[in-house]
Amino acid sequence: MVEVGDKVIGYSTDPGVRNKGASGGLVTAILAAALEKGLVEEVVVLKHINEYEAIPIITSDVEDVLASAGSMHTVPVNLAKYAVGKNVAMPGKPCDIRGVIEQAKRNEVNIDNTYLIGLNCGGTMYPVQTQEMLVNMYDIDPEDVTGENIEKGNLIFRTKSGEEKGISIDELEEAGYGRRLSCRFCDVKIPVNADLACGNWGVIGELTGNATFCEVMNEKGVRLLENAIEAGYIEIEPASEKAIAIREKVNNVMLSMGEKWSEKVFTEIPDKERTQYYMEQFADCINCGACKEVCPACTCGEDSKCTMYHNLEDNYRMSMFHMVRLMHLSDSCIGCGQCTDVCPADIPVTTIFRRFADKSQKKYNYKAGMTLERPPFLEVMPR
Ligand SMILES: Cc1cc2nc3c(=O)[nH]c(=O)nc-3n(C[C@H](O)[C@H](O)[C@H](O)COP(=O)(O)OP(=O)(O)OC[C@H]3O[C@@H](n4cnc5c(N)ncnc54)[C@H](O)[C@@H]3O)c2cc1C
Ligand code: SF4
Ligand code: SF4
Ligand code: SF4
Repeated sequence: MVEVGDKVIGYSTDPGVRNKGASGGLVTAILAAALEKGLVEEVVVLKHINEYEAIPIITSDVEDVLASAGSMHTVPVNLAKYAVGKNVAMPGKPCDIRGVIEQAKRNEVNIDNTYLIGLNCGGTMYPVQTQEMLVNMYDIDPEDVTGENIEKGNLIFRTKSGEEKGISIDELEEAGYGRRLSCRFCDVKIPVNADLACGNWGVIGELTGNATFCEVMNEKGVRLLENAIEAGYIEIEPASEKAIAIREKVNNVMLSMGEKWSEKVFTEIPDKERTQYYMEQFADCINCGACKEVCPACTCGEDSKCTMYHNLEDNYRMSMFHMVRLMHLSDSCIGCGQCTDVCPADIPVTTIFRRFADKSQKKYNYKAGMTLERPPFLEVMPR
């Protein structure tokens, strides 16, 4: 019997799934069981395009689920909006799960029938830059890569010839490669906001690379695991004290790395220079609206306060669109990085929004996307 709070090590009972999965195929097997045994009607997974790119899909075909096994470190897309209005199960990085929770607070997602399998996350990278990095730093032809893994602070690539080459993430980031900036200062590494929190930290001994550590966060997590066990899709065993301690230790190391990045990026701006800072940051904005479109914490749609001012004529030396959004997202920005990723003017939108939001979230001791607690200033367009 599974209980809330259990910490287990598990893997798929199907050798093919176990082999294809990032660490034992536990997540794929749980998703497949949820679909096949009717716990959910659909699942959100990634459809692989190549070794570096994939697109999120919503599917009820178990073959799509099996084909999605494996971790794509070069796919930073946020999955939250794919869960909207559906009875789904979805895997997700902490920021995907945070996005779903923000959507749920705005009644876009029914959290009771949305099953969230969280994946620990050390960070994601851009696909094009990663291929450039492989040539310049690893001396590897991107076409030869068959898989990648993060272990002990190293980013390791495997090639068709069976070789493995790892370089420390610090060294890669110093050279201008590696994780997206938002991932470097991200402050959630184990998705304790999901129903299950899964990852390879804490998997030790002969199971290393071949099984996943999974923490059961709530009753939905119990249902997901029990359903997969009853279907015969997974096997689990209790995690040892040593495994639990290692997972905790690595998480703390990653969080303190994130804090150091935060201190580096969010240097204090004197009060009287703040307005100037925001005006300068958005000076190149072409008002395309892409940053709003992708934001997983944003649900008002086109008929919203910020879009009312989404007009260059209305601007007072700086886009009012951004001013309204900065206020609106001050209690709900989750720092997912999507806005920076899509900005055609190369504006570091995430850094700007996080700088603004961090103050109010800290003041109210509130972290967006972690629980269903109402945000301090929640205000959305009622539907
Ligand atoms: C970007 C990323 C970084 C990670 N970093 C760490 C880490 O630092 N430490 C750690 O302990 N674990 C990390 N993990 C989790 C770990 O790699 C495994 O995903 C986890 O142990 C489950 O393994 P599995 O074999 O059961 O998953 P699988 O059975 O292989 O299933 C993986 C599922 O994840 C989905 N998926 C793959 N890539 C993404 C993505 N980019 N975004 C959203 N969903 C995706 C797939 O669609 C699939 O459904 C990371 C995962 C990802 C995706
Ligand atoms: S923002 Fe955080 S959770 Fe999201 S991809 Fe980056 S490190 Fe992972
Ligand atoms: S403002 Fe940017 S970083 Fe913040 S939640 Fe929206 S897309 Fe993510
Ligand atoms: S995506 Fe960039 S250019 Fe487009 S509205 Fe947002 S900040 Fe401006």
